[in-house]
Amino acid sequence: MARINDNYLKLKAGYLFPEIARRVNAFAQENPDANIIKLGIGDVTEPLPQACRDAMTNAIADMADRSSFKGYGPEQGYLWLREKIAVNDFQSRGCAISPDEIFISDGSKCDCGNILDIFGKDNKIAVTDPVYPVYVDTNVMAGHTGEANDKGEYEGLVYLPISANNDLTAQLPTESVDLIYLCFPNNPTGATATKEYLESWVNYAQKNDAIILFDAAYEAFITDTSLPHSIYEIEGARECAIEFRSFSKNAGFTGTRCALTVVPKTLKGKASDGSEVELWKLWNRRQSTKFNGVSYIVQRGAEAVYSDAGKAQINELVSFYLENAQIIREELTKAGLTVYGGVNAPYVWVKTPEGLSSWDFFDKLLHHVNIVGTPGSGFGAAGEGYFRLSAFNSRDNVIEAMKRITTNMNFN
Ligand SMILES: *Cc1c(COP(=O)(O)O)cnc(C)c1O
Repeated sequence: MARINDNYLKLKAGYLFPEIARRVNAFAQENPDANIIKLGIGDVTEPLPQACRDAMTNAIADMADRSSFKGYGPEQGYLWLREKIAVNDFQSRGCAISPDEIFISDGSKCDCGNILDIFGKDNKIAVTDPVYPVYVDTNVMAGHTGEANDKGEYEGLVYLPISANNDLTAQLPTESVDLIYLCFPNNPTGATATKEYLESWVNYAQKNDAIILFDAAYEAFITDTSLPHSIYEIEGARECAIEFRSFSKNAGFTGTRCALTVVPKTLKGKASDGSEVELWKLWNRRQSTKFNGVSYIVQRGAEAVYSDAGKAQINELVSFYLENAQIIREELTKAGLTVYGGVNAPYVWVKTPEGLSSWDFFDKLLHHVNIVGTPGSGFGAAGEGYFRLSAFNSRDNVIEAMKRITTNMNFN
């Protein structure tokens, strides 16, 4: 009989969102008339920008004619898209990233997992707690951890707790680690990183020969002009950081699929014979072997994000979600709750009131006001006592949900 990858049996996840669905379905069955509003999932709700749709429609026309038809594209993505990204997202901010250091992909969730292909088995890996579960689960699948304990913490990972006690920013590890996952603006907490804070990580990585895996999926939500959008705005980051970006949250591509990963040619890792190897070469080889590129049509849609019309439409989309976040923040504060995030990020991180656990507060919101959020403990042990509300929803739903809370619940 075929042997399975036993590491999959260690996975605790597949627990959070199914458990939410189970409780919501049970409640809906008992209360068929309840109008449940879901502020739980991190998926966008608004249509694709017109500029992206027009570009994709034109690209379909290209595919209808033998002279402009496209078959396999470059595994790294079309140069015309990578050039626009290099100029608009990086060089315009003073980051010396060239188009050949950019790899187009079908998602940064995928890349966050796939990147482990080019790293060895013996790395010490640090994640924040709470954390985007993909970073942890992909390491479990790759056999980089032991079993999970009762709190869901895997043996072998270094957890860096974040809470209101440390301004929702992880402290540097006290030990030496090799790989560090950072996500700013953060999912789930909505926290941001200042330049000084990222500098402290780049310094740490340089001292410890570590690589930072920097997830910037939410950079478009940064409105505070003092905050860096890219890790490469920090001097020295080209020697110690890989950056993941996505068109999912800024341009609503969650169902369309396009993202990018930056692997600077100056990044090095160590082989078992002690020699230093360019990580770019390994990632390029990995993508060329296991990936055949993103659809031409979708890449044309992503390219339109950098047109004048595209930029204006994306600005509008991001502002719309940020206004939702502001409404959530203001109304929850009125109801007597303590809230974090939601200013430069589409997530509001709520301290559960009255010492309630994350799941108790989940049940309370569901039963009293028919609102669904995400229990913080689902993102890690240190998320216990917190709750995530997403600003990805229609304005009507956000206003109605907040009205229900302010009129029916008072934690003052
Ligand atoms: C949504 C999200 C992404 C984007 O994933 P895609 O696969 O590009 O849709 C990446 N990282 C985090 C933390 C996210 O929340």
